[in-house]
Amino acid sequence: MNKYRPDAFYSKTIEIPFADYAAKGYRFVLFDLDNTIAPDHSYDPVSYSFDVIRLVTDLGMKSCLVSNAKSNRSEIFAKKIGIPYVSYAAKPSPKGIYRAMKDLGADNTNTIMIGDQFFTDIIAGKRANVHTIWVKPYDKREVFYVRMKRPLEYIIRKLFGF
Ligand SMILES: [Mg+2]
Repeated sequence: MNKYRPDAFYSKTIEIPFADYAAKGYRFVLFDLDNTIAPDHSYDPVSYSFDVIRLVTDLGMKSCLVSNAKSNRSEIFAKKIGIPYVSYAAKPSPKGIYRAMKDLGADNTNTIMIGDQFFTDIIAGKRANVHTIWVKPYDKREVFYVRMKRPLEYIIRKLFGF
């Protein structure tokens, strides 16, 4: 279990100290989409999404979406916000993260994966051996199959001491 312990936990993506990460040599930030940088099932970025991406970009880091969305939704969203994307990432498989790192010219020593779901985002990040940051969901509205996992995630979070 401890091999899946996230490297950090923050209440909000916007509160992550990206400047500290940049200073440590991190150059690439992979974002989950739903409830990490926008509300669940978004096609359109909200101002929060733009704020997060601008924060990262201004520090000279590159962003990429890594989403499990089973449609062209992540492509539509990514194009609107102006960053590259990997769709059908199949997290908790690490393959979407590997694909993103290859596309970006990144490696596991300079890459961060950020997401709101332990069983997809975090496990995929740990398997890819990148720095992994777990965040609380952007808002409470979400599809039932995600909502069902939240009580167990709460317990896991407490076990990890976050
Ligand atoms: Mg999510």
